[in-house]
Amino acid sequence: MRITIKIGSNVLTRADGSLDVTRMSALVDQIAVLRGMGHEIILVSSGAVASGRSEMKHIQHDLDSVDQRQLFSAVGQAKLMNRYFGLFNDYNICVGQVLTTKENFADNEHRKNQENCLRVMLENGVLPIVNENDTVSVTELMFTDNDELSGLIAQMTQSQMLIILSNIDGIFTGNPSDPESRLISIVKPGKDLSDYIQTSKSSAGRGGMKSKTSVASQTAAAGISVIIANGKKDDILVRLMNDRDNTPCTEFLV
Ligand code: GLU
Repeated sequence: MRITIKIGSNVLTRADGSLDVTRMSALVDQIAVLRGMGHEIILVSSGAVASGRSEMKHIQHDLDSVDQRQLFSAVGQAKLMNRYFGLFNDYNICVGQVLTTKENFADNEHRKNQENCLRVMLENGVLPIVNENDTVSVTELMFTDNDELSGLIAQMTQSQMLIILSNIDGIFTGNPSDPESRLISIVKPGKDLSDYIQTSKSSAGRGGMKSKTSVASQTAAAGISVIIANGKKDDILVRLMNDRDNTPCTEFLV
């Protein structure tokens, strides 16, 4: 199976905003297991801005500033890829960086180039690690977040599955911290979840449950099954593949 896996900033960063290399390493271990099972993986990884921010501690401004986003992502993306390269290299998995922008998904020459790049990487056994090119994607040129990007990548690469890893188990019937709330494990096609969605979002990334749900519904409608799960849980990816019924997650059926 071809699987696009999206890892959110909140999975890859610690509470103080620094890059959680232990978590990254654990996720790389799991992706290596999935590759060993014969699955083809495309990774969409956030964390550039967050890891750049923690590298440049002496700069004290707001993330909203365009200058800061460009600066942090330029530094942080290099740091992120350096880590991934080393971690995957231990498994003899060759990775490549794909930095992209919204215009590469419009119906034009850029799209063909983007598609071709991913195809040639996959055909040669290279694991693509995709992120938005945050150094040039500013304001209206930006994707809503990497959730949107992961849905587009899953469709462009004709993945059979999209796994969105966040820091909660999936979509709940209410506030996840409320003991009354239940995890919704299966979402049937066309089901409207708007009553359940919390509009709050984590501090690290741009997305939130609202965007995850809308990306998941659209991607599932395009014939790709989508799973939202907790990337901070040990062995989550392997458990999702081997024992999904007993693994907390929300699965959007096609
Ligand atoms: N592309 C951003 C980064 O790598 C994250 C965007 C998002 O939060 O979805 O830092």
